[in-house]
Amino acid sequence: MTTYGTGSRILVTGGAGLVGSHLVDALLAKGCDVTAVDNFATGARENLAEHPRLTVVEADVTEGLPVGDAPFDAVLHFACPASPVDFATLPIEILRVDSVGTFHALDRALADGARFLMASTSEVYGDPQVHPQPESYWGNVNPIGIRSCYDEAKRFSEAAVAAYHRHKGLDAAIVRIFNTYGPRMRPDDGRVIPSFVSQALAGEPLTVTGDGSQTRSLCYIDDLVSGLILLLESGEYGPINLGTEYELTVREMADIILRLTGSTSTIEYIDRPADDPERRRPDLTAARELLGYEPQVHYEAGLKATIDFFVAKNSGATELTVD
Ligand code: NAD
Ligand code: UDP
Repeated sequence: MTTYGTGSRILVTGGAGLVGSHLVDALLAKGCDVTAVDNFATGARENLAEHPRLTVVEADVTEGLPVGDAPFDAVLHFACPASPVDFATLPIEILRVDSVGTFHALDRALADGARFLMASTSEVYGDPQVHPQPESYWGNVNPIGIRSCYDEAKRFSEAAVAAYHRHKGLDAAIVRIFNTYGPRMRPDDGRVIPSFVSQALAGEPLTVTGDGSQTRSLCYIDDLVSGLILLLESGEYGPINLGTEYELTVREMADIILRLTGSTSTIEYIDRPADDPERRRPDLTAARELLGYEPQVHYEAGLKATIDFFVAKNSGATELTVD
Protein backbone atom coordinates (compact mmCIF):
# COMPACT_ATOMS: atom_id res chain seq x y z
CA MET A 1 0.00 0.00 0.00
CA THR A 2 1.54 3.30 -1.15
CA THR A 3 -0.16 6.67 -0.90
CA TYR A 4 0.62 9.09 -3.71
CA GLY A 5 0.50 12.80 -2.88
CA THR A 6 2.75 15.81 -2.49
CA GLY A 7 6.08 15.15 -4.18
CA SER A 8 4.85 12.09 -6.13
CA ARG A 9 5.61 12.26 -9.84
CA ILE A 10 3.00 10.57 -12.02
CA LEU A 11 3.02 10.06 -15.80
CA VAL A 12 -0.39 9.63 -17.45
CA THR A 13 -0.54 8.64 -21.13
CA GLY A 14 -3.83 9.62 -22.80
CA GLY A 15 -4.16 12.32 -20.16
CA ALA A 16 -6.40 14.52 -22.31
CA GLY A 17 -9.09 11.89 -22.83
CA LEU A 18 -12.24 11.16 -20.83
CA VAL A 19 -10.66 8.85 -18.26
CA GLY A 20 -7.16 10.31 -18.41
CA SER A 21 -8.23 13.91 -17.78
CA HIS A 22 -10.41 13.03 -14.78
CA LEU A 23 -7.61 10.85 -13.43
CA VAL A 24 -5.18 13.75 -13.85
CA ASP A 25 -7.57 16.00 -11.89
CA ALA A 26 -7.81 13.44 -9.06
CA LEU A 27 -4.01 13.10 -8.87
CA LEU A 28 -3.54 16.89 -8.85
CA ALA A 29 -6.13 17.15 -6.08
CA LYS A 30 -4.06 14.64 -4.04
CA GLY A 31 -1.03 16.92 -4.42
CA CYS A 32 0.88 14.93 -7.06
CA ASP A 33 3.02 16.40 -9.84
CA VAL A 34 1.51 15.10 -13.06
CA THR A 35 2.83 14.82 -16.61
CA ALA A 36 0.14 14.11 -19.20
CA VAL A 37 1.20 12.86 -22.63
CA ASP A 38 -1.35 12.95 -25.42
CA ASN A 39 -1.44 13.35 -29.20
CA PHE A 40 -5.05 14.64 -29.04
CA ALA A 41 -6.21 11.93 -31.46
CA THR A 42 -9.51 11.57 -29.57
CA GLY A 43 -8.88 13.79 -26.54
CA ALA A 44 -8.51 17.56 -26.28
CA ARG A 45 -6.16 20.04 -24.59
CA GLU A 46 -9.27 21.83 -23.22
CA ASN A 47 -10.00 18.77 -21.04
CA LEU A 48 -7.02 19.75 -18.88
CA ALA A 49 -7.00 22.96 -16.84
CA GLU A 50 -3.84 25.02 -16.48
CA HIS A 51 -2.23 23.95 -13.21
CA PRO A 52 1.22 24.63 -11.69
CA ARG A 53 1.78 20.92 -10.98
CA LEU A 54 0.62 19.74 -14.43
CA THR A 55 2.86 19.41 -17.49
CA VAL A 56 1.12 18.61 -20.76
CA VAL A 57 3.28 17.07 -23.50
CA GLU A 58 1.88 16.69 -27.01
CA ALA A 59 3.36 13.46 -28.33
CA ASP A 60 2.44 10.14 -29.87
CA VAL A 61 3.40 7.45 -27.35
CA THR A 62 4.14 5.00 -30.15
CA GLU A 63 7.15 7.20 -30.95
CA GLY A 64 8.44 7.31 -27.38
CA LEU A 65 7.90 9.37 -24.25
CA PRO A 66 9.62 12.79 -24.48
CA VAL A 67 9.07 13.60 -20.81
CA GLY A 68 12.58 14.26 -19.47
CA ASP A 69 14.81 12.06 -17.33
CA ALA A 70 13.53 12.72 -13.79
CA PRO A 71 12.06 9.43 -12.58
CA PHE A 72 8.34 8.90 -12.12
CA ASP A 73 6.77 7.11 -9.16
CA ALA A 74 3.94 5.75 -11.29
CA VAL A 75 3.23 5.36 -15.00
CA LEU A 76 -0.46 5.12 -15.91
CA HIS A 77 -1.02 3.97 -19.50
CA PHE A 78 -4.41 5.22 -20.71
CA ALA A 79 -3.65 6.36 -24.27
CA CYS A 80 -5.88 4.56 -26.76
CA PRO A 81 -8.91 5.51 -28.84
CA ALA A 82 -11.81 3.66 -27.20
CA SER A 83 -15.00 4.14 -29.21
CA PRO A 84 -16.20 1.48 -31.67
CA VAL A 85 -16.36 4.32 -34.20
CA ASP A 86 -12.58 4.67 -33.74
CA PHE A 87 -12.18 0.93 -34.38
CA ALA A 88 -13.35 1.61 -37.95
CA THR A 89 -11.28 4.76 -38.55
CA LEU A 90 -8.12 4.23 -36.45
CA PRO A 91 -7.53 0.44 -36.35
CA ILE A 92 -3.78 0.56 -37.04
CA GLU A 93 -3.27 3.44 -34.57
CA ILE A 94 -5.13 1.44 -31.92
CA LEU A 95 -3.02 -1.68 -32.56
CA ARG A 96 0.15 0.41 -32.35
CA VAL A 97 -0.69 2.37 -29.21
CA ASP A 98 -1.59 -0.80 -27.31
CA SER A 99 1.53 -2.65 -28.43
CA VAL A 100 4.43 -0.32 -29.30
CA GLY A 101 3.02 2.39 -27.00
CA THR A 102 2.58 -0.10 -24.17
CA PHE A 103 6.23 -1.20 -24.51
CA HIS A 104 7.39 2.43 -24.27
CA ALA A 105 5.30 2.95 -21.15
CA LEU A 106 6.41 -0.36 -19.60
CA ASP A 107 10.10 0.35 -20.32
CA ARG A 108 9.84 3.77 -18.72
CA ALA A 109 8.19 2.33 -15.61
CA LEU A 110 10.85 -0.36 -15.39
CA ALA A 111 13.71 2.11 -15.81
CA ASP A 112 12.25 4.43 -13.15
CA GLY A 113 11.28 1.68 -10.68
CA ALA A 114 7.74 3.06 -10.97
CA ARG A 115 4.41 1.36 -10.40
CA PHE A 116 2.64 0.68 -13.71
CA LEU A 117 -1.10 0.71 -14.34
CA MET A 118 -2.56 -0.45 -17.63
CA ALA A 119 -6.05 0.54 -18.80
CA SER A 120 -7.52 -2.68 -20.12
CA THR A 121 -11.16 -3.24 -20.91
CA SER A 122 -14.23 -5.42 -20.60
CA GLU A 123 -13.68 -5.93 -24.34
CA VAL A 124 -11.06 -8.58 -23.51
CA TYR A 125 -14.11 -10.74 -22.69
CA GLY A 126 -15.40 -10.17 -26.26
CA ASP A 127 -19.05 -11.20 -26.68
CA PRO A 128 -19.07 -12.99 -23.32
CA GLN A 129 -20.61 -16.41 -22.82
CA VAL A 130 -20.29 -16.07 -19.04
CA HIS A 131 -22.46 -13.50 -17.27
CA PRO A 132 -21.59 -11.46 -15.25
CA GLN A 133 -17.92 -11.54 -16.20
CA PRO A 134 -15.35 -12.50 -13.53
CA GLU A 135 -11.66 -11.81 -14.14
CA SER A 136 -11.09 -15.57 -14.44
CA TYR A 137 -13.13 -15.69 -17.68
CA TRP A 138 -10.86 -15.91 -20.75
CA GLY A 139 -13.35 -14.36 -23.13
CA ASN A 140 -14.92 -14.93 -26.53
CA VAL A 141 -13.13 -12.68 -29.01
CA ASN A 142 -13.21 -12.73 -32.83
CA PRO A 143 -9.49 -12.20 -33.63
CA ILE A 144 -10.13 -10.79 -37.12
CA GLY A 145 -13.47 -9.00 -36.66
CA ILE A 146 -14.13 -5.26 -36.80
CA ARG A 147 -13.50 -4.90 -33.05
CA SER A 148 -10.39 -7.06 -33.02
CA CYS A 149 -7.96 -4.14 -33.42
CA TYR A 150 -9.05 -3.02 -29.95
CA ASP A 151 -9.84 -6.32 -28.22
CA GLU A 152 -6.66 -8.05 -29.34
CA ALA A 153 -4.46 -4.99 -28.76
CA LYS A 154 -5.72 -4.83 -25.18
CA ARG A 155 -5.17 -8.57 -24.77
CA PHE A 156 -1.64 -8.10 -26.13
CA SER A 157 -1.05 -5.24 -23.67
CA GLU A 158 -2.25 -7.44 -20.82
CA ALA A 159 0.18 -10.15 -21.98
CA ALA A 160 3.01 -7.58 -22.13
CA VAL A 161 2.23 -6.34 -18.62
CA ALA A 162 2.07 -9.94 -17.37
CA ALA A 163 5.49 -10.66 -18.91
CA TYR A 164 7.13 -7.55 -17.40
CA HIS A 165 5.53 -8.35 -14.05
CA ARG A 166 6.51 -12.02 -14.09
CA HIS A 167 9.93 -11.88 -15.77
CA LYS A 168 11.25 -8.45 -14.80
CA GLY A 169 9.54 -7.98 -11.45
CA LEU A 170 7.71 -4.81 -12.54
CA ASP A 171 5.25 -3.52 -9.94
CA ALA A 172 2.25 -3.55 -12.26
CA ALA A 173 -1.54 -3.60 -12.29
CA ILE A 174 -4.17 -4.29 -14.95
CA VAL A 175 -7.63 -2.74 -14.72
CA ARG A 176 -10.49 -3.97 -16.91
CA ILE A 177 -12.75 -0.95 -17.32
CA PHE A 178 -16.48 -1.39 -18.08
CA ASN A 179 -18.50 1.22 -20.04
CA THR A 180 -17.60 4.53 -18.39
CA TYR A 181 -19.20 7.83 -19.37
CA GLY A 182 -19.30 11.39 -18.14
CA PRO A 183 -18.49 15.03 -18.84
CA ARG A 184 -15.75 15.69 -21.42
CA MET A 185 -16.91 12.97 -23.81
CA ARG A 186 -17.11 14.34 -27.33
CA PRO A 187 -20.63 14.69 -28.76
CA ASP A 188 -19.42 12.82 -31.87
CA ASP A 189 -17.44 10.24 -29.88
CA GLY A 190 -19.78 7.55 -31.24
CA ARG A 191 -20.29 5.73 -27.94
CA VAL A 192 -23.86 5.24 -26.86
CA ILE A 193 -24.21 7.87 -24.11
CA PRO A 194 -22.70 10.88 -25.95
CA SER A 195 -24.57 9.83 -29.11
CA PHE A 196 -27.97 9.62 -27.40
CA VAL A 197 -27.46 12.78 -25.33
CA SER A 198 -26.36 14.90 -28.28
CA GLN A 199 -29.16 13.49 -30.46
CA ALA A 200 -31.77 14.14 -27.73
CA LEU A 201 -30.58 17.71 -27.21
CA ALA A 202 -30.61 18.39 -30.95
CA GLY A 203 -34.12 16.94 -31.36
CA GLU A 204 -32.74 14.29 -33.70
CA PRO A 205 -33.78 10.60 -33.63
CA LEU A 206 -31.86 8.44 -31.15
CA THR A 207 -30.08 5.76 -33.18
CA VAL A 208 -30.65 2.46 -31.36
CA THR A 209 -28.79 -0.47 -32.90
CA GLY A 210 -30.64 -3.75 -33.45
CA ASP A 211 -33.74 -4.02 -31.27
CA GLY A 212 -31.92 -2.32 -28.37
CA SER A 213 -32.19 -5.38 -26.10
CA GLN A 214 -28.39 -5.73 -25.74
CA THR A 215 -27.08 -4.59 -22.35
CA ARG A 216 -24.20 -2.57 -20.90
CA SER A 217 -23.48 -1.63 -17.27
CA LEU A 218 -22.91 2.09 -16.99
CA CYS A 219 -20.20 3.57 -14.75
CA TYR A 220 -19.95 7.27 -14.01
CA ILE A 221 -16.42 8.64 -14.43
CA ASP A 222 -16.04 9.63 -10.74
CA ASP A 223 -16.64 6.06 -9.60
CA LEU A 224 -14.10 4.73 -12.07
CA VAL A 225 -11.47 7.25 -11.00
CA SER A 226 -12.01 6.37 -7.31
CA GLY A 227 -11.42 2.73 -8.20
CA LEU A 228 -8.32 3.56 -10.24
CA ILE A 229 -6.77 5.44 -7.31
CA LEU A 230 -7.60 2.54 -4.96
CA LEU A 231 -5.94 0.11 -7.37
CA LEU A 232 -2.91 2.35 -7.90
CA GLU A 233 -2.32 2.66 -4.16
CA SER A 234 -3.19 -0.94 -3.25
CA GLY A 235 -0.14 -2.63 -4.74
CA GLU A 236 -2.51 -5.27 -6.21
CA TYR A 237 -1.69 -6.76 -9.62
CA GLY A 238 -5.16 -7.80 -10.77
CA PRO A 239 -6.50 -7.96 -13.41
CA ILE A 240 -9.39 -6.21 -11.68
CA ASN A 241 -12.77 -5.28 -13.14
CA LEU A 242 -14.02 -1.75 -12.42
CA GLY A 243 -17.49 -0.53 -13.31
CA THR A 244 -20.97 -0.91 -11.89
CA GLU A 245 -23.75 -3.47 -11.80
CA TYR A 246 -26.30 -1.00 -13.27
CA GLU A 247 -27.03 -3.20 -16.28
CA LEU A 248 -29.43 -1.55 -18.73
CA THR A 249 -30.63 -2.41 -22.20
CA VAL A 250 -29.69 0.12 -24.86
CA ARG A 251 -33.40 0.80 -25.36
CA GLU A 252 -33.71 1.60 -21.62
CA MET A 253 -30.76 4.01 -21.94
CA ALA A 254 -32.54 5.80 -24.78
CA ASP A 255 -35.76 6.10 -22.76
CA ILE A 256 -33.93 7.41 -19.67
CA ILE A 257 -32.05 10.03 -21.71
CA LEU A 258 -35.26 11.14 -23.44
CA ARG A 259 -36.90 11.55 -20.01
CA LEU A 260 -33.93 13.36 -18.41
CA THR A 261 -33.50 15.77 -21.32
CA GLY A 262 -37.25 16.29 -21.79
CA SER A 263 -36.61 15.68 -25.49
CA THR A 264 -39.35 14.78 -27.96
CA SER A 265 -36.86 12.98 -30.23
CA THR A 266 -38.01 9.70 -31.73
CA ILE A 267 -36.16 6.37 -31.71
CA GLU A 268 -34.66 5.16 -34.98
CA TYR A 269 -33.63 1.51 -35.17
CA ILE A 270 -30.46 1.03 -37.21
CA ASP A 271 -28.32 -2.00 -38.07
CA ARG A 272 -26.44 -3.58 -35.23
CA PRO A 273 -22.65 -3.68 -35.90
CA ALA A 274 -20.98 -7.08 -36.26
CA ASP A 275 -19.67 -8.71 -33.07
CA ASP A 276 -21.51 -6.16 -30.87
CA PRO A 277 -21.51 -7.86 -27.43
CA GLU A 278 -24.96 -9.04 -26.30
CA ARG A 279 -24.62 -8.63 -22.54
CA ARG A 280 -22.01 -7.04 -20.31
CA ARG A 281 -21.82 -6.68 -16.54
CA PRO A 282 -18.74 -6.89 -14.32
CA ASP A 283 -18.36 -9.30 -11.46
CA LEU A 284 -17.03 -6.83 -8.89
CA THR A 285 -16.14 -9.33 -6.16
CA ALA A 286 -12.37 -8.82 -6.56
CA ALA A 287 -12.67 -5.01 -6.62
CA ARG A 288 -14.74 -5.09 -3.44
CA GLU A 289 -12.59 -7.62 -1.58
CA LEU A 290 -9.13 -6.44 -2.65
CA LEU A 291 -9.72 -2.67 -2.99
CA GLY A 292 -12.80 -1.90 -0.90
CA TYR A 293 -14.29 -0.45 -4.12
CA GLU A 294 -17.98 0.49 -4.07
CA PRO A 295 -19.49 2.63 -6.82
CA GLN A 296 -21.55 5.52 -5.47
CA VAL A 297 -23.18 7.26 -8.43
CA HIS A 298 -26.55 6.03 -9.70
CA TYR A 299 -26.94 6.27 -13.46
CA GLU A 300 -29.74 8.85 -13.09
CA ALA A 301 -27.35 11.25 -11.31
CA GLY A 302 -24.43 10.45 -13.61
CA LEU A 303 -26.49 10.92 -16.74
CA LYS A 304 -27.91 14.21 -15.42
CA ALA A 305 -24.36 15.51 -14.84
CA THR A 306 -23.36 14.38 -18.33
CA ILE A 307 -26.41 16.03 -19.91
CA ASP A 308 -25.62 19.25 -17.99
CA PHE A 309 -22.10 19.15 -19.44
CA PHE A 310 -23.39 18.78 -22.99
CA VAL A 311 -25.90 21.59 -22.47
CA ALA A 312 -23.13 23.85 -21.12
CA LYS A 313 -20.83 22.84 -23.98
CA ASN A 314 -23.53 23.74 -26.51
CA SER A 315 -23.79 27.17 -24.90
CA GLY A 316 -19.99 27.54 -24.86
CA ALA A 317 -19.67 27.46 -21.04
CA THR A 318 -17.38 24.63 -19.91
CA GLU A 319 -14.69 26.37 -17.84
CA LEU A 320 -12.41 23.92 -16.06
CA THR A 321 -11.23 24.33 -12.49
CA VAL A 322 -9.10 21.99 -10.41
CA ASP A 323 -8.67 22.16 -6.64
P1 NAD B 1 -10.59 8.77 -24.93
O1 NAD B 1 -10.60 8.57 -26.40
O2 NAD B 1 -11.40 9.86 -24.35
O3 NAD B 1 -9.10 8.94 -24.38
C1 NAD B 1 -7.99 8.34 -25.00
C2 NAD B 1 -6.86 9.38 -25.02
O4 NAD B 1 -5.68 8.77 -25.56
C3 NAD B 1 -7.19 10.58 -25.92
O5 NAD B 1 -6.90 11.78 -25.23
C4 NAD B 1 -6.29 10.39 -27.12
O6 NAD B 1 -5.99 11.60 -27.76
C5 NAD B 1 -5.10 9.69 -26.49
N1 NAD B 1 -4.30 8.94 -27.45
C6 NAD B 1 -4.74 8.02 -28.34
N2 NAD B 1 -3.71 7.53 -29.04
C7 NAD B 1 -2.57 8.15 -28.58
C8 NAD B 1 -1.20 8.06 -28.90
N3 NAD B 1 -0.75 7.23 -29.85
N4 NAD B 1 -0.34 8.84 -28.23
C9 NAD B 1 -0.76 9.69 -27.26
N5 NAD B 1 -2.06 9.80 -26.90
C10 NAD B 1 -2.96 9.03 -27.56
O7 NAD B 1 -11.03 7.37 -24.28
P2 NAD B 1 -11.27 7.01 -22.76
O8 NAD B 1 -12.65 6.51 -22.64
O9 NAD B 1 -10.80 8.09 -21.89
O10 NAD B 1 -10.30 5.76 -22.62
C11 NAD B 1 -9.06 5.89 -21.94
C12 NAD B 1 -8.45 4.52 -21.73
O11 NAD B 1 -9.37 3.72 -20.96
C13 NAD B 1 -8.20 3.76 -23.03
O12 NAD B 1 -7.03 3.00 -22.89
C14 NAD B 1 -9.40 2.86 -23.14
O13 NAD B 1 -9.12 1.72 -23.89
C15 NAD B 1 -9.67 2.54 -21.68
N6 NAD B 1 -11.07 2.14 -21.47
C16 NAD B 1 -12.08 3.07 -21.43
C17 NAD B 1 -13.38 2.64 -21.25
C18 NAD B 1 -14.56 3.57 -21.17
O14 NAD B 1 -15.69 3.09 -21.02
N7 NAD B 1 -14.39 4.88 -21.20
C19 NAD B 1 -13.66 1.27 -21.13
C20 NAD B 1 -12.61 0.37 -21.21
C21 NAD B 1 -11.31 0.81 -21.35
N1 UDP C 1 -25.21 1.94 -29.69
C1 UDP C 1 -26.44 2.39 -30.15
N2 UDP C 1 -26.50 3.61 -30.75
C2 UDP C 1 -25.40 4.42 -30.89
C3 UDP C 1 -24.16 3.98 -30.38
C4 UDP C 1 -24.09 2.73 -29.79
O1 UDP C 1 -27.46 1.71 -30.02
O2 UDP C 1 -25.55 5.53 -31.44
C5 UDP C 1 -25.14 0.61 -29.06
C6 UDP C 1 -24.00 -0.28 -29.53
O3 UDP C 1 -24.35 -0.98 -30.72
C7 UDP C 1 -23.83 -1.19 -28.33
C8 UDP C 1 -24.14 -0.28 -27.14
O4 UDP C 1 -24.91 0.80 -27.67
O5 UDP C 1 -24.77 -2.25 -28.37
C9 UDP C 1 -22.91 0.28 -26.44
O6 UDP C 1 -22.10 0.86 -27.45
P1 UDP C 1 -20.80 1.73 -27.13
O7 UDP C 1 -20.21 2.07 -28.45
O8 UDP C 1 -21.12 2.84 -26.21
O9 UDP C 1 -19.83 0.78 -26.31
P2 UDP C 1 -19.38 -0.75 -26.44
O10 UDP C 1 -20.10 -1.43 -27.56
O11 UDP C 1 -17.93 -0.65 -26.68
O12 UDP C 1 -19.73 -1.33 -25.14
